[in-house]
Amino acid sequence: MKCKQATQLMSQSQDRDLTLKEKIQLKLHLLMCDGCTHCNRQMSIIRAAVKELGDRK
Ligand SMILES: [Zn+2]
Repeated sequence: MKCKQATQLMSQSQDRDLTLKEKIQLKLHLLMCDGCTHCNRQMSIIRAAVKELGDRK
């Protein structure tokens, strides 16, 4: 899997449930790729922040 695909899967995972195959591919990529691991972490921080804002409504 390429970094571009991995980032796509990460952003898609916010909108839909990934298939088991996609989850495994993404996880394997994250194990090997520091760049995407960092990116994934940033995304979950943003997601948590957005969720918190949403909860305050
Ligand atoms: Zn990557």
